[in-house]
Amino acid sequence: MKELILEMEEYASLKNIPIIEKDSIAFIMKYIKKNNIKTILEIGSAIGYSTILMASASQEVTVTTIERDESRYMECLKNVKKCGFEKKINVVFQDALDVNLTGVKYDMIFIDAAKGQYTKFFEKFKYFLNDGGVIITDNLKFHGHVGKSKEIESKNLRGLVEKIESYIEFLQTNEEFDTNFYDVGDGLSVSVKKDGK
Ligand code: SAH
Ligand code: MG
Repeated sequence: MKELILEMEEYASLKNIPIIEKDSIAFIMKYIKKNNIKTILEIGSAIGYSTILMASASQEVTVTTIERDESRYMECLKNVKKCGFEKKINVVFQDALDVNLTGVKYDMIFIDAAKGQYTKFFEKFKYFLNDGGVIITDNLKFHGHVGKSKEIESKNLRGLVEKIESYIEFLQTNEEFDTNFYDVGDGLSVSVKKDGK
């Protein structure tokens, strides 16, 4: 397991795959244990690095993870097999915005896919959260760019950063969820669904 994790870190750095920072995944694993989280939906698997670590947080955790890129999906499947987590992890090869979920609810949703679509993911998947459930989002600092979009010259990058900034505002003003922001890794938010909402 430890070896596989190191192998995945190397593979990701070699192939430029943006896996979660160590502080952030440590934070999430602690959150899972402390809050007795058992079912997780992850948007954006990449090669399964955060997926496998979340699944390893406790014996009872199961993860469904969605990835739209075929080669990353294949790599993720391979890694899930390597660590023997086939029963704990269900990998779905599809665009998350096209996925049809019915009759399932999760204790935690981890949003870590296309940064420009965070609000869309949140609005789509919030219905699949158990009472008192939580949505955690990664990369809210986006490598230090967030909060400084006006200074960015590249139009594409500026557009993306503006979308993350508007997602942060969306979370801050959201009446159904209480959100805390953490200056951990590349920036995390933890949005807890309020009672009766
Ligand atoms: N959670 C992973 C990293 C994910 S990187 C980890 O920390 O180990 C983001 C991934 O989201 C990429 O592999 C990208 O292909 C995928 N992605 C982006 N938009 C998506 C979408 N709409 N549906 C499914 N996957 C998406
Ligand atoms: Mg990330």
